[in-house]
Amino acid sequence: MKRKLLSIILLLSVLCLFTACTEPTTANHSGSKDTTIEPKNDSELPASTLKSGDSGEDVKELQAALVKIGYEISVTGNFDNETTEALKDFQAQQVKLPASGEYNQATMKWLKKALDGEFAVEPGKGSVPISNPEETVIVDDPSDTLVLVNKSHALPNDYIPDDLIAPNVRFPFTQDLPKRYMREEAAHALEDLFKASDKAGLDLFAQSGYRSYNTQESIFASYVAKDGEDAANKYSARPGESEHQTGLTMDVTSPEINFNLNTNFAKTEEGKWVKAHAHEYGFIIRYPKGKESITKYQYEPWHLRYVGKEVATVIHEKDITLEKYLGAL
Ligand SMILES: [Zn+2]
Repeated sequence: MKRKLLSIILLLSVLCLFTACTEPTTANHSGSKDTTIEPKNDSELPASTLKSGDSGEDVKELQAALVKIGYEISVTGNFDNETTEALKDFQAQQVKLPASGEYNQATMKWLKKALDGEFAVEPGKGSVPISNPEETVIVDDPSDTLVLVNKSHALPNDYIPDDLIAPNVRFPFTQDLPKRYMREEAAHALEDLFKASDKAGLDLFAQSGYRSYNTQESIFASYVAKDGEDAANKYSARPGESEHQTGLTMDVTSPEINFNLNTNFAKTEEGKWVKAHAHEYGFIIRYPKGKESITKYQYEPWHLRYVGKEVATVIHEKDITLEKYLGAL
């Protein structure tokens, strides 16, 4: 089966090379109005940047390339919705490409690799649908400390906080990974929380902070493959719907539970202390026990969300959720 696929890919790339060589290299690059991309002799991909609304031979070339890697779109020469969606889907599958739906130099490089059979493209895989397409809103203030992110409020897929730093706290790993990071204000608040827990003689560890849209996308896709979409949606977030993308969140744990993230954390001294004191440092337990019908997530005693001391204190004292506090029910 794999061998068969491989030979098809090989055959396709040979075909690509063949057509690339037989085509006149003077293919009219009508879209040269924008930034020009260095043209490649052996490539049949357009050299100009292209976006929704453009038309011409370049768009046709791009559409033909998308068809070659498996997208079922019409080669019309008009950069239509279908083309944008196919391109977005392709981009979402490449970790380093923002899913903008626009054709540019970076996208060209990856498309070329796909055409060369360097990796397999799975049309449709990049467009993991949001939970409630009709009801979900894309938040327009992703950098607000009080931003609401849940199964009906998603972050834009290109949102990356611009003030991420690594808080000076204990992690059970030494690598400099994205999950070590948080937004500056939240990171300093976490440092204060850790200092206080140290003073209380505890052994708290930070496990997982910032997570990009693309990382969340891969994680969710792997859970769907393992457990199916409905199950995955109960314990994991779809891309855009994870609070970890805000940079305001940190999952915490302790050696007593082998640095795992599970409900046993609530029974540890660290878990009890966090529940009682996190608000003093601006954090809330975002997915509390008994509020699953509101948050739509299972109880997560380890998932801390920064909202600032004032709001955290109100939420703690009234024993409510962020949804309730923001009047978003
Ligand atoms: Zn979490």
